[in-house]
Formats: sequence, structure tokens, C-alpha cells
Amino acid sequence: MRIKVLGCSGGIGGDLRTTSMLVDEDILIDAGTGVGDLSIEQLAKIDHIFVTHAHLDHVTSIPFMVDTVCWMRDKPVTIHSTAATLQVLKDHLFNWKIWPDFSQIPDSDKPFMVYSELTVGNTVDLGGRKFTAVPANHVVPAVGYLVDSGKSSFLFSGDTTVNDELWAVANATANLKYLVIETAFSNKEKSIAIASKHLCPSMLASELSKLKRSAEIFVTHLKPGEVQLTMSEIEKEAAKWKPRMLENGYEFQL
Ligand SMILES: [Zn+2]
Ligand SMILES: [Zn+2]
Repeated sequence: MRIKVLGCSGGIGGDLRTTSMLVDEDILIDAGTGVGDLSIEQLAKIDHIFVTHAHLDHVTSIPFMVDTVCWMRDKPVTIHSTAATLQVLKDHLFNWKIWPDFSQIPDSDKPFMVYSELTVGNTVDLGGRKFTAVPANHVVPAVGYLVDSGKSSFLFSGDTTVNDELWAVANATANLKYLVIETAFSNKEKSIAIASKHLCPSMLASELSKLKRSAEIFVTHLKPGEVQLTMSEIEKEAAKWKPRMLENGYEFQL
């Protein structure tokens, strides 16, 4: 199994893309602006999208992608998330006002897009590639994902602030290889990090101290304009875990 980073920034501009990861050729985890870098042929191969939460930086490419490739496909794209997140997408995105409801087009018997409800702790097995929603603690209903190839596991925090349940999952995952965790703000914006339910470097260090096993750690969702400051603070506060900044194009092998 291979997971390629398409976007891992908290914003756009220049080379920056918002959150999305391509799993093999057919699955996305989130669908931020990075999805737009795929070719039409690559977009048409995507059968499943696992959504962490409904914030625009994580879902903005779903409407364009489905609209672009629907005529090239003979089966629907499946949008996986919790009932609460799917309801937000139905009410506020695919609501015929912001974008057409592709779960009803061309008709509800054979639509271009279908929703599939997940519950936290529940595993979706796609040909031996296992996706489990794990709790996140954000300002809207949100999850992270544990991806298990059978050989090793990749844990993505999603957007979250302090989250003991994430560490319970990490510590219970014997084959954990990679952890991707957000740090959206620098320390001087700690109050904004708390209010918007994200992390800053001091909070990241305190969270990582709950990890009881070794893993390669990558930091994601840094705010544009604060990348160097935030990474230098992380290098000071969380040095013992050797976290690296996630970058577009990086590939994880599971
Ligand atoms: Zn968010
Ligand atoms: Zn976000």
C-alpha cells in the first residue's frame, strides 16, 4: 500500500495545497485543493473518499472531481464519513444551491456519488486495506483515520486539539509505522489554537508525550506564513520525537 501526499497545508498560494492524500490509485483521504493536481485520468480512478470533517479545506475538491469525471465512470464515487459529517455535506454543499446533489444525478438509482456512513472504531475493508475512523476533537464533528495494510499502519489525526482517544488508538496499534498529526498554529497563537480546536507546538509536545510506542512522526496543516516559526518551535519543544514537516509528494509505504 502506498499513500501519497497531495496537500498538507493550512492554506493555498504558490505551491501550497490543502489536505488530501491519495491511497494507491483509487482512494482519497480528504479532498482539499491538492486533488486538483491529479490528471483527469487519475481523478477518474478514484472510487472512495474518506472525509475527516466537512471544513472546506478538506472537501473543496469533491464537487469539482465528481462533476469532472462522472461521465468517464460506470460506478459511483463513495463518500465515507460519520453521519454527522455526511449530513453537513448534504445540507450545506451538495444542496442544489452551492452545488448539485450528485447523489441524485443522473437519478437516485444509479447516481454518480453515494454516501456511506461510518462510526468511530468501525473498520471499512477495501481489498485488505483497512480504514478505521478514530476520534478527533475539533470545532465540528470530526474524525481521523487509522489505515492498516496488514503489514503496517498509518495514523492520521485529522484536524484536532488535545485528544486522549487518539493516543489510546496509537498505543493499541502494534504495527504503527507512521503518525501524521496537525500543528496548525505557532505558540504565539496558542489562544487561537485552543479556540479553533487545533494544536500549537507546545500542545503538540504535550500530546506526543502520551505516545507509548515508536513511530515516524510527520507534522501537517501548518498555517502559511508561520511555517518556519512553527517548525523551529516544534524542533525545540518536541525534538525527542524527531517530527518532520510533511510535504507534498511525500509517499508512505505501508
Ligand atoms: Zn477543520
Ligand atoms: Zn483543516
